[in-house]
Amino acid sequence: MNRVALITGASRGIGRSIALAFARHGYSIGINFARSKDKAEAVAREIGSLGGKSLLLEADVSNSEQVKKMVGKVMGEWGKIDVLVNNAGITRDRTILKMSDEEWLETIQVNLTGAFWCLRECAKEMCRKKEGAILNISSIVGAKGSSGNANYVASKAGLMGLTKAAARELGRFNVRVNSLLPGFHRTDMGNRVWDKLFERVRSEHFLGKLTDLEEFAEFVCVVAEQKSVSGQVYNFDSRIL
Ligand code: NAD
Repeated sequence: MNRVALITGASRGIGRSIALAFARHGYSIGINFARSKDKAEAVAREIGSLGGKSLLLEADVSNSEQVKKMVGKVMGEWGKIDVLVNNAGITRDRTILKMSDEEWLETIQVNLTGAFWCLRECAKEMCRKKEGAILNISSIVGAKGSSGNANYVASKAGLMGLTKAAARELGRFNVRVNSLLPGFHRTDMGNRVWDKLFERVRSEHFLGKLTDLEEFAEFVCVVAEQKSVSGQVYNFDSRIL
């Protein structure tokens, strides 16, 4: 049976790897992207070369109208959404004393509010058919805190709270909601702090190595397919929370 996964921010980085992993598991993929159509098209071609189907979905997740249209487009094409991965995220790093209103608001708006818009719209469809999985990509700093990015930390902590609240509310509709912390990766986002943080972060991993991105993407699929797990937060590296 055809299964459908909608991945936000799927044009590059962690989202791209998650999209390809779900395609390898036989899902049709909704590839959400905000701006970089060429990169999203490249992901669609990769999915095609795996024998999979995909749909390009240009939408800013922080805009609820665009999110409604995006979910409507997936429903129009495939008639259902089995999995939502809330992966889209940004950083606007600044210390608290220097942080502008815009840097705070934009980060919360994309990382937390955007995830909520997507969760709410997809949950409406999932609850109707009494089946679905929602995965929220958070970060270890949302659990442990960090200096110089309180906006990002608060958005990621909020995402873990949203996961638990949604899991409680949606459980009776057989919709599972879990949160995944992906480790540290040299994506466009990770690259901005790589040189500054790499040695310290690696030393915190007691295996002495960072998370493998393909392994993490595969883990997202595995969690999505578990029928009896919800409301959980999974840290996917060798740092202890
Ligand atoms: P990235 O910057 O490479 O990719 C982020 C993706 O989100 C891009 O595709 C971007 O276009 C998309 N995006 C940003 N704003 C958007 C919007 N308004 N609407 C739709 N899409 C939007 O970053 P990444 O490292 O691949 O991060 C993916 C997720 O993993 C993020 O939520 C991030 O917070 C989280 N994360 C990353 C790391 C890491 O080490 N890279 C660590 C912990 C958590």
